[in-house]
Amino acid sequence: MNTSSSNPPQSDPQKTMNPLDLEEFKRQGYMMIDFLTDYYKNIENYPVLSKVEPGYLAKILPSSAPFQPESIESILEDVQQHIIPGITHWMSPNYYAYFPSSGSIAGFIGEMLSTGFNVVGFNWLSSPAATELETIVMNWLGKLLNLPKSFIFSSNIKGGGEIKKLSQIGKDNIGKLVVYCSDQTHSALQKATQIVGIHSENFRVIKTKGSNLFALSPDSLLSTILLDVDNGLIPYFLCATIGTTSTNAVDPIKLLCNVTKEYDIWVHVDAAYAGSVCICPEFRHCIDGIEELNSFSFNAHKWFLTNLACCCLWVKDHNALTTSLSTNPEFLRNKKSDSKEVIDYKDWQIPLSRKFNALKLWIVLRSYGVENLKNFLRNHVEMAKIFEGLVRKDERFEIVVPSKFSLVCFRISPFAISIANDSEGYYVGKMMNDAYLVNEMNHKLLDLINSSGKAYMSHGEVEGSFVIRCAIGATLTEEHHVTMTWKLVQQIASFLLGTPLN
Ligand SMILES: *Cc1c(COP(=O)(O)O)cnc(C)c1O
Repeated sequence: MNTSSSNPPQSDPQKTMNPLDLEEFKRQGYMMIDFLTDYYKNIENYPVLSKVEPGYLAKILPSSAPFQPESIESILEDVQQHIIPGITHWMSPNYYAYFPSSGSIAGFIGEMLSTGFNVVGFNWLSSPAATELETIVMNWLGKLLNLPKSFIFSSNIKGGGEIKKLSQIGKDNIGKLVVYCSDQTHSALQKATQIVGIHSENFRVIKTKGSNLFALSPDSLLSTILLDVDNGLIPYFLCATIGTTSTNAVDPIKLLCNVTKEYDIWVHVDAAYAGSVCICPEFRHCIDGIEELNSFSFNAHKWFLTNLACCCLWVKDHNALTTSLSTNPEFLRNKKSDSKEVIDYKDWQIPLSRKFNALKLWIVLRSYGVENLKNFLRNHVEMAKIFEGLVRKDERFEIVVPSKFSLVCFRISPFAISIANDSEGYYVGKMMNDAYLVNEMNHKLLDLINSSGKAYMSHGEVEGSFVIRCAIGATLTEEHHVTMTWKLVQQIASFLLGTPLN
């Protein structure tokens, strides 16, 4: 028998690890704050978009987990050496891609506190404060958005009854349910319909037009619905969007609801990014008609200083959720739940476990206050206006869709590209119409902006055109970042077009 190599090391009782040793908790906790403070201090020195290649990390890190403990010092050294190069710096002031993730001290502290308590608030009893604070904070936010009373919790949480669609039509008819959205709707909806079991041939993606600023047209919706009804199908769900991903289009909620109300369709509004700014009275009109909706959501982790993740969902009749999602296993039974006097949020969502996210949002709202939050949002809208103005001043560029909120969609214009090519001896007429070359040129521009490391933007496609998106909303972004970024874009464009700076 070989005993020499297979004996496990004997544990030394002196060295038994205490994963919550309070001295270490304090030491490492402060160390992490110091580390992050340095990170934020130096954030502008890193390339905004990470430059690493796929598989870079496996080449550096060991192929199996360490048998013996390692010190936090050496772990942090590896973070600095090996992890940070593979990070795309969403907190950088020069981050303009997708939509922002505007973290803040309050969002961070809130996350820290929630993680520290580490409660799993699936029902009221599992952590009463988690449930009760969530209800309160959602009402605070609902009031900031001036949501109708039907979306606000009252002391009577029982609400009215909703007959669920499947119990109405029978489970065998799920193949007849039709879901509607526009070609600008986020892909998250398609994923949701795949999970729910909506047949893919019953997923209606209605075309939008640039002439209508890419909003979903109520007439197109109506004609699509009429065709489905004629074919014996059952209109079921509409997802409208306030602030679409590509161009920030705003679907006309009121007019769309005028169409859907004849057909008992569940209408949801996805305001993931732009929902935040609707707390400012000058933007509240974007969600006019909200009283007609069944549900409304926005992501506080996008543009509301709340670190990831925090999605806020309002449902007019929560019984619609609880009738579909309630379970009552013995091991979760308790007198409070049985009394029906409390909310058990496990019955409003798919997973059982849930974080104490309300704590984070509560701390954000209290730390900054409504007036500062509004000004934070307005400041980004203002900077987007400045950036849009700079784009418009340079005749080589065009604004593809007038900027709403804080997203600017622009590109080098086909005309500028045709002139540039002409000066290099290409023939103009062909280039003017060659949308493919225009897209290629703008694609190149974006690649060069991003590989410079000085800024990171992303793209969208509208009516076949490649569009560069500059989404302003990072917490650290100031006006000088925006103007420097524009200079960078101009320089690269001059290089590409072979024309001098304007
Ligand atoms: C970001 C975004 C989403 C996706 O939100 P997640 O919470 O990340 O799933 C959906 N819709 C719109 C309009 C978005 O901007």
